[in-house]
Amino acid sequence: MAARRQALRLAARALEQQLNADTSDHGVPELPCPCGGSAQYPGRHPKTFESVLGPLHLQRAYYHCDQCQSGFCPRDRALGLESFSLTPGVLRMTASAAALASFEESRGLLQELAGVNVSAKQVERAAEALGAEIAVDEHQHVEKMSEGAPTMYLGMDGTGVPMRAQEVADRAGKQADGSAKTREAKLVTIWTAESRDKEGKPCAIRDRLPISAAIESAATLDTSPHLSDFAERVGREAACRGFTEAPHQLVLGDGSTWIWNTATELFPPATQILDRFHAKEHLSQVGKVIYGGSYGRPAMD
Ligand SMILES: [Zn+2]
Repeated sequence: MAARRQALRLAARALEQQLNADTSDHGVPELPCPCGGSAQYPGRHPKTFESVLGPLHLQRAYYHCDQCQSGFCPRDRALGLESFSLTPGVLRMTASAAALASFEESRGLLQELAGVNVSAKQVERAAEALGAEIAVDEHQHVEKMSEGAPTMYLGMDGTGVPMRAQEVADRAGKQADGSAKTREAKLVTIWTAESRDKEGKPCAIRDRLPISAAIESAATLDTSPHLSDFAERVGREAACRGFTEAPHQLVLGDGSTWIWNTATELFPPATQILDRFHAKEHLSQVGKVIYGGSYGRPAMD
């Protein structure tokens, strides 16, 4: 491991020398700035980037704009180095780790598995910026991703996500003092039951179900001509997965009013099914009301 790391560091030094010897990024004395002004070249600026080879200390031509008091390095743009001092390779690793683990755990994984030093703060900034980009992309590109099936299922649910105190500071919640510790993420998932298990029974491939989720509202004013943010999400997912064209549409939910309202608004012909767990829970409550006594909560299956 030490020898491998040493070899990577040597490769980093070679790459550094090659890039720093090439001063072609200072081709002209001034460049147009995105603000409309013009940026002048005052000199080369040093910066350290974290790459898959380890730290890279680069000298790049810097252009400064007096009009907007900011500047840029053409080489950073050309090499895709504008994100958080990370090279594209390290940014990809960071995003993969942050999608699965906490920012701090991601920092540890990157250090241990790849020998690269990315602080928890950098992981956080990268994850949040990429998340925002993904969200924009997900809103703009609604492409059909898979062929539908004659019978398709769509499930919606909501679940509390623990939040930092500052994120829920002015929100009402379920705590004894009226404060909130969580916000509700709503999710939608679509599947078919065309697959069969070993006994030939229809089954869903549950562990590979794509889920689209966000902390979004499912409510709009009755007078609003627009769908709620979450209903828009469900509509996009339904279009991508071929649910909208399925001759036989089924929507599963836990009985929450917002789920049935969303289903009725988007898919009027769909059959609405209360999921088995909540149906049993409801039956149990009815049993208690009629017969009294202490019937237990139904076991979840
Ligand atoms: Zn400018």
